[in-house]
Amino acid sequence: MAAGDRRLRDGARLKFFHGPMDCGKSTLALQMDYNHSRQGRQGLVLTRNDRSRRGEVTSRIGLRHDAVEVTDDLDLVALVRERWATGERLDYLICDEACFYTVAQVEQMADLVDVHDVDVFAFGLATDFRAELFPASRRLFELADEVSRLQVEVLCWCGREGTLNARVVNGVVAREGEQVVIGDTVEAGADEVRYQVLCRRHHRSGDLGPRPVRPPRP
Ligand SMILES: [Zn+2]
Repeated sequence: MAAGDRRLRDGARLKFFHGPMDCGKSTLALQMDYNHSRQGRQGLVLTRNDRSRRGEVTSRIGLRHDAVEVTDDLDLVALVRERWATGERLDYLICDEACFYTVAQVEQMADLVDVHDVDVFAFGLATDFRAELFPASRRLFELADEVSRLQVEVLCWCGREGTLNARVVNGVVAREGEQVVIGDTVEAGADEVRYQVLCRRHHRSGDLGPRPVRPPRP
């Protein structure tokens, strides 16, 4: 490939968009898919642990799209090559909830970009309930061509910008536990687990405010 070749400048890209819960990541993911498909490109939407639990990406404002449910053993490169083998065209992947993917799958995203010229747009949380990076998000920070923090504002109850996700177990901010626990799954006799976006100050102090508000779930 000659220096100055257009593909060297305009080749595929790995982009990571991150932000706290409720900041509109899934909405942007579906908007991105729509924008690219309007340009005649074909993509595939993937997700893991979407709020619908049904192999689709759903957004809080009511958008939805069929999606491949990602599991630990899914090989993203093999997935794309299998689709290609059946004659399907794939120009890009939309990877929603990428914080829950494996580190190996982030490496596969880089391979898709570098070796197979497929754009990969990843969306997810940067940090977990302890304000520590998810392993896949850490790898995305390290490897992505472009990292963007989403600008949609989510406010803490105090009015400061909400940047961190607190896990609230039976009304108290949790400091220990499994990295991934799905919230809003109240079973008889089980702990009540939910998540609340807080500013750093109140995440650190564990102060949920005078009147914790449970956000509506669509
Ligand atoms: Zn606050």
